[in-house]
Amino acid sequence: MHFVDGRGNVIIRYPGTVPGKVCSFVGSHLDVVPANPTSWERNPFKLTVEGDMLYGRGTTDCLGHVALLTDLLCTLAEHKPALKTSVVVVFIVNEENSSFVGLGVDQLAKEGYLDKLKSGPLFWIDAADSQPCIGSAGNLQWKMKVTGKLFHSGLPHKGINSIELAMDAVAYIQRRFFQDFKRLPQEDEYNFVTQSTLKPTQISCAPGSLNQLPPDCTVEGDVRLAPFYDVAEVRRVVSAYIAEINANPAVLENPETRGPHSKYTLPDENKKGAVEFQWLADGENGIACNLNSVGYHAILEATKAILGDVKPYSIGGSLPLIRELQEHGFDMQISGYGISTTKRTASPISTAPINQQ
Ligand SMILES: [Zn+2]
Repeated sequence: MHFVDGRGNVIIRYPGTVPGKVCSFVGSHLDVVPANPTSWERNPFKLTVEGDMLYGRGTTDCLGHVALLTDLLCTLAEHKPALKTSVVVVFIVNEENSSFVGLGVDQLAKEGYLDKLKSGPLFWIDAADSQPCIGSAGNLQWKMKVTGKLFHSGLPHKGINSIELAMDAVAYIQRRFFQDFKRLPQEDEYNFVTQSTLKPTQISCAPGSLNQLPPDCTVEGDVRLAPFYDVAEVRRVVSAYIAEINANPAVLENPETRGPHSKYTLPDENKKGAVEFQWLADGENGIACNLNSVGYHAILEATKAILGDVKPYSIGGSLPLIRELQEHGFDMQISGYGISTTKRTASPISTAPINQQ
């Protein structure tokens, strides 16, 4: 099934004897991220086999999985076992570039090609390290512009230092966030390494000289949210924190940390600092796979039988394609068999186990 010329999704079905009973393997993608041959020791566009090592762009992510599922289909075709459950494999054309919409699994789902897969587990085979991945975090990004009042630093009581106000506003927002979005017992159950976090990751201020209080400062950052919370709730409560600050910025003043002269309101001049907070997008929720699914129990037992041990894990990144399918009613189960430490990607999170964002 192709939505643009030259890039076809492939759906292969091995029929079972019980109508409607299905198990599917989706997510193994035929595309790879770009490779610059001059920075490679071997040709990235050709598979090179040396001992038990395979070299080439996409061997781990995700052509190794395409080969694995092809092998599964060949084995079924050769031995023709009578199965109750139909086995469906969907190879997709687009995963690496999320800005290309409408050509891969998103469009297949939208046009109903995957509807029959909803009645059984859907194994998303594009993770790594041979362990079930059972959860991912939601994510939101924000920008906060803080306005103070420019003044000579020798008369700090006459100005409003926007850097100090920004730092105290961030600390206030974080304090409230960590009270409202505590680690939940399910986060232990799903083996999340970190709890939900809100933090600054970039800061800048109006250029000026060192003897001036800066008039404005911009802080940007993100939120990583456990899937048991909703990003809409984060947007709502953070707006409430900001309203509290703007109603009276003096609540942030603290002589113990900033000394007696750093003020965020100047009542004599009827002036106060201001915080403008903005979400850069609506954000997206995380995923918690269904741990009561027959698919989950199957992969758990299979992993244990082959490796002797099973350690399901969750990640702090987000997996947009998988979340969308789960929202549309698919029983998403995630696994994969590459080795994350040998994966090369164009992003700085090259050791992340999946293509998380
Ligand atoms: Zn991938």
